[in-house]
Amino acid sequence: MKNSTAITIRATELLADLRAVGISAGGVLIVHASFKSLGSVAGGPATVVRALLEAVGPKGTLLMPTFADPQPDGHFHVATTPSRTGAITEVFRTHSGVVRSHHPTHAVAAAGPRAAEFIVEHEHTSGLGINSPFHRAALAGASLLMIGCDFRAASIVHIAEAVAKVPYLGRVWHEGYDRTLTVVSPDGRRTLVPPRDPPGCSAGFTAVQMAMSERNLLRQVRVGRADCWLFSARDALDTALSLLQADPAALLCRRPDCPLCPRARAILA
Ligand SMILES: [Zn+2]
Repeated sequence: MKNSTAITIRATELLADLRAVGISAGGVLIVHASFKSLGSVAGGPATVVRALLEAVGPKGTLLMPTFADPQPDGHFHVATTPSRTGAITEVFRTHSGVVRSHHPTHAVAAAGPRAAEFIVEHEHTSGLGINSPFHRAALAGASLLMIGCDFRAASIVHIAEAVAKVPYLGRVWHEGYDRTLTVVSPDGRRTLVPPRDPPGCSAGFTAVQMAMSERNLLRQVRVGRADCWLFSARDALDTALSLLQADPAALLCRRPDCPLCPRARAILA
């Protein structure tokens, strides 16, 4: 476009930003990302994926959500069912060397030496439950980078609900998540996965963001044009657990039209 004032961001600039905010090679990194928040990136989401992989390096492990709503035919194909969690995650899941866990609604894609260790047997636990990939990564010391999104997208907080065994767990869920689904592995093997504690509403998870900010556990950083949050996944888990210990309703939202939280509050009452 002639006379355009839009500045295109290149891979080298993204990598420099990631290094500057402290993403170092060799670590474990979980990323939630809004591609649009970064601005105009030359080469699109694939450029972001390459920059993130280069930032963690060959000895680091990178994880992203590649969730999918329950499919109309009840079949989740590990190799082909698209990710609903953003353009960057959709490119990442098909990138060379990336493996995806076998969970029908909350599959996680991972690359790096610890990828297999984190994603294994996801079909035997709840999507965001104990021993799910993000839980294992958090316990292994993962950093969590949220690019252009806030704690409403922080899956790790749902894991705190599972660890704390909140009384509303498995009793309120989004429509359609109470079905047994079939996971079809890349080699065609089929596994029936019954519904296990599907996660509820996350609109109230900003409470964890506020608590972490007060406790100086959050860093607000800039990558490309995106405002980002960078923190320890374990700190987020522990902060959410401390809030739940003080008040089992701490993570529920106050939206009057929320279909889930009022029911969860009724269970707590
Ligand atoms: Zn809610």
